[in-house]
Amino acid sequence: MIFRRSKQVEVEDEPEIEYVLFQGPLNGVQPNLAANAKLAQAALVPTKELITDAILRRAEMIRLDPKGNAAVVRLYVDGVPYPAARMPRQQGTAVTQMIKLLSGLDIKERNAGQAGGLNAEHESVKYQLKVQVAPGDGAERLIVRIENLKTRPEKPEDLGFSQTMRDKLRERTTDHPGAVFCCGPGGSGVTTTTFGILRALDPYTRTILTLGDTEGRKLIAMNPFEWEASEGLERGIQRVLRIEPNVLFVDPVRDAETAKLLFKYSDTVSFVGELPAKDVATGVQQLVQWTGDTNVVAEGLNALVSPKLIRKLCEKCKQVFKPNPKAIAKLGLPPETHVLFRPPRPPVAGTPEADAWVPCHKCGGIGYLGRTGIFEILEMSPGMKDVVRAGGSPQQIRQQMKADGMQLFQKEALRLVAEGVTALEEVQRVFQQPAA
Ligand SMILES: [Zn+2]
Repeated sequence: MIFRRSKQVEVEDEPEIEYVLFQGPLNGVQPNLAANAKLAQAALVPTKELITDAILRRAEMIRLDPKGNAAVVRLYVDGVPYPAARMPRQQGTAVTQMIKLLSGLDIKERNAGQAGGLNAEHESVKYQLKVQVAPGDGAERLIVRIENLKTRPEKPEDLGFSQTMRDKLRERTTDHPGAVFCCGPGGSGVTTTTFGILRALDPYTRTILTLGDTEGRKLIAMNPFEWEASEGLERGIQRVLRIEPNVLFVDPVRDAETAKLLFKYSDTVSFVGELPAKDVATGVQQLVQWTGDTNVVAEGLNALVSPKLIRKLCEKCKQVFKPNPKAIAKLGLPPETHVLFRPPRPPVAGTPEADAWVPCHKCGGIGYLGRTGIFEILEMSPGMKDVVRAGGSPQQIRQQMKADGMQLFQKEALRLVAEGVTALEEVQRVFQQPAA
């Protein structure tokens, strides 16, 4: 494990590790450490070590899986898994139990999935740890998601929205009524993108109201509309329409009934929300299936947006190289691209270079630091309306997107390569990933 030296060194040759501080479960159920003294004695320090190590390595997720006699820990940094501590199975179980206890979960229950979380602090930075346990292989599997509350990207430009994209979203959302949905596989940033769309709108010239759960996000000049779920969504929409809003934010659409209801009012107001579909083309199909009417979707849908996350090269250690002009042309990069960037290659283990190698202090030697979004936007152009009305397949929908020059992942990714934001090998990795 890698530990940074503590700032509060008391004895010079014995630096103390600054461990993470646990500050109580999110559900308010105070853990009874006294009643679980044996567990705390065995597992509190290893648990602190594990979480501290993950934070120092910039991991956004920890996975602990029991395997044979061991518990295998992997740390996910910018979406990529790295092997971390390997501990005896028994210790893995103790750490899992400890995290459950600290999260206010039931430690006696080991056969049903549980979810919760806790507040934490490390080097004066506040974190929220979201905890998930699931039964598996005779012992529980543990997932801890680490969220740095200060660096959570919120602004459209931080998410990777280009100016062109923001203009397009404004036009598609506020110029005429209709639905704008965001879709994509889990973990691709769909929720963040949905709020990014709302933030890209101009709240001072448009009335934007929320009927959905904003999960504690602060949305400037956007007002929650007071309504009770018990009165039904339709009644809520009818009441909110009296205020004549331009845009309504709604909770994720998960069934035919809700989809039909929103499309019933899609000629009066703009809706923004999430749609469970792996990409924009299957999103159209899902809506057609739910509404049972291709015309309704062709007329009521304004746009579908889908994000993908891609790692950004570390500015400190990225390396420049001269690409082959033929490769530039083949990839479709702009012909004026003379140089590209890539992460540094660590020397081969066992060589003198490897012994002398000092990993970059900024990215820890990974070569990438943080992620940005790339986006596909399906717009309901006249040509797309025809394809949707005719019940077009996902393939035909994609063809139409290309024909109309809509924003596509591949083009967006190559733009970032040409700008030196990311590397070709990262683009390959992202596109080879199986859809979750
Ligand atoms: Zn670096």
